[in-house]
Amino acid sequence: MELKRAYKFKIYPDATRQEEIDERLILAQQFYNMLLEKSIKSYKNGKTKVSMAQFNRFVKEIIQEDKKYLKLYSQTRCEIEYRLLRAYQNFFRRIKEGNKKAGFPRFRSRDRYKSITYPQDNGSFSIKRGRLRVSRIGTMPINLHRKIEGTIKTLAIKREGRNYYVVLTTTKEIKVPNVKNVNPVDIDMGLNSFVVLSDGAKIQKPKFAKKAEKHIARWQRIVARRQKGSKRREKAKLKLQKKWEDVSSQSNDFAHKLSTKLVDSGYTSFAVEDLRIQNMAKNHRLAQSIHNASWNRFIQMLSYKAESAGMKVIKVDPRNTSKECSNCGNIQDMPLSIREYNCSRCGMQLDRDINASINILKRATLGQRGSHVQGESARPQMEAVLEELRTDKTHPLRDAVIA
Ligand SMILES: [Zn+2]
Repeated sequence: MELKRAYKFKIYPDATRQEEIDERLILAQQFYNMLLEKSIKSYKNGKTKVSMAQFNRFVKEIIQEDKKYLKLYSQTRCEIEYRLLRAYQNFFRRIKEGNKKAGFPRFRSRDRYKSITYPQDNGSFSIKRGRLRVSRIGTMPINLHRKIEGTIKTLAIKREGRNYYVVLTTTKEIKVPNVKNVNPVDIDMGLNSFVVLSDGAKIQKPKFAKKAEKHIARWQRIVARRQKGSKRREKAKLKLQKKWEDVSSQSNDFAHKLSTKLVDSGYTSFAVEDLRIQNMAKNHRLAQSIHNASWNRFIQMLSYKAESAGMKVIKVDPRNTSKECSNCGNIQDMPLSIREYNCSRCGMQLDRDINASINILKRATLGQRGSHVQGESARPQMEAVLEELRTDKTHPLRDAVIA
């Protein structure tokens, strides 16, 4: 199996290198917009086909009109073409699906264009003795706080506020062990906990999230209050970005530790809620969006760690998991204020989060039936454990806290 990973490291370009990077970020943004403009013009002239070949012709024109774009590494220009191609493909896909709000690819402002990519390690960049060298930009210190495993494939330089980072992607061939799925577990996003496992264990929300939420909300208000275009507003925006960075690096750390712990805990497969199914756009609550972001990061990490250890991660539809009785399948309303599921049909009483996570585990195992012998053999065991949990209120796992 080919294992893909991404690493983010802080880099420290000096003033000259910063200028070089900033200049390229602006060039890349302009280049993207010019490519978009040219494609829109040809779209209006009745040419609806979008292709790399067509983009390549536009690129030639753009460079002929202004040689400054030659400053962008050729592979970087290629990557920008791919970005736009993907934006178009998404647009056409949404139209096909009958989505009325299918957004046409948009022009990007400088705030919205923050990275340049070197899609192939063909000598355009290298890392040696704690320093990163990028072709035509120069060398700069890099903080390699984690060991890079595998072969480096791509590099992206990013600016976040006043800080600079690189994101490296790597691939590595690994031998995956054959794990018998005898101990499946479901991981559910709890209402008050970070995650709830179907065997009753709960992991508390990390404390930093609450603190960060307060800070972020405060700086969002300050940014909103200050006059658009003013220096004071820009300053507040930088502060806000800094707070986001803090919370995302802390949540990365948390996700790393928790996912490693779970993979090493003796479980043999994981069923998780697929949050993309829910309409996330509807949710404007800050706390929830922070929670969702760290949840997604956690699932990502869990997935690659579990899969490289030979365990499956199954994503399941989270709809109605709280409303459904895990014992009899009855569906009843469960307002958020109600902490316990009291089934009006079969009389089952169970913590609402545990009930929901049992439902998810059931769906994951059901989904596997037939196609996976492993899931089948795990079922009787799992049912026994779940039955014990439903009936035994003093089960030691019910309130266990792993974190
Ligand atoms: Zn019931």
